[in-house]
Amino acid sequence: MRVKVDQLKCETIGICVKRCPQVFRFQPGSKKATVIVDEIPPGLEQKCREVANMCPSRAIIIEEQKS
Ligand code: SF4
Repeated sequence: MRVKVDQLKCETIGICVKRCPQVFRFQPGSKKATVIVDEIPPGLEQKCREVANMCPSRAIIIEEQKS
């Protein structure tokens, strides 16, 4: 599973960064969230889905992969 943050939609609210710092970080300049891992570790997938649902801007894009 991969996750992206839509930079146009992110409003720097930071729920993702607070709830799942293993995956999300604020970028130093813009303060928008970004994803710091390429492939989400299986143990964090559920958490990422929860955080995506909590994002008020719906800026978190989940890409499920079928392998
Ligand atoms: S929760 Fe959504 S709006 Fe807030 S920082 Fe994360 S991606 Fe951006």
